[in-house]
Amino acid sequence: MTERGLLIVLSGPSGVGKGTVRKAIFEDDAVDFRYSISATTRKPRTGEENGKDYFFVSREEFEDKIQAGDMLEYAEYVGNYYGTPRSFIEETLASGRDVFLEIDVQGALQVKAKMPEGVYIFLTPPDIKNLRMRLEGRGTDSAEVIEKRVAAAKDELKKMINYNYAVENDVVDKAVNRIKAIITAERLRVTRVIDEITD
Ligand code: 5GP
Repeated sequence: MTERGLLIVLSGPSGVGKGTVRKAIFEDDAVDFRYSISATTRKPRTGEENGKDYFFVSREEFEDKIQAGDMLEYAEYVGNYYGTPRSFIEETLASGRDVFLEIDVQGALQVKAKMPEGVYIFLTPPDIKNLRMRLEGRGTDSAEVIEKRVAAAKDELKKMINYNYAVENDVVDKAVNRIKAIITAERLRVTRVIDEITD
């Protein structure tokens, strides 16, 4: 029997830099886990590609997918749906390959309820003031949206207790290295290694 792949979930408040950290992780050609591309009803930002950054879909299409049970989890965030397509995750894990999700806190907690064996990593901002600065610096959201995101982040920070690891995103490269170290350690858990040897 093939050993099931590892489910790795990177989460944390919006604006903490999850997207930047995730992109930096996947820039490394040696990375041998697969990225789960989310579906969203938000409009693409400049430079974003359908099928690479997200699957950009209409609200109607998204709601159809929810009804059909095609979403492992989904969340509504600042007026848009975001969700993880179920089949990619199931097929990839069953084939023995590891999957990496980068999703918000609401979504991560839904996944954890269904798949508690996953590795849950919480990316923390150095401080909340910094989070606001990053959102403002990005220049993609209105002041009203930024206020909503900061309020959501404060709430999300309280949920850190549900995770296995907390990684501070002070310097991107450092955060990337810490996350890679976590994944390496999780792959070397005796329970996983023993399963491989005794198979
Ligand atoms: P953005 O609009 O900045 O790309 O993403 C907004 C938030 O949605 C981020 O916190 C991002 O991590 C989260 N997100 C992206 N994909 C998913 C997903 O599939 N499910 C959930 N629950 N959140 C997601």
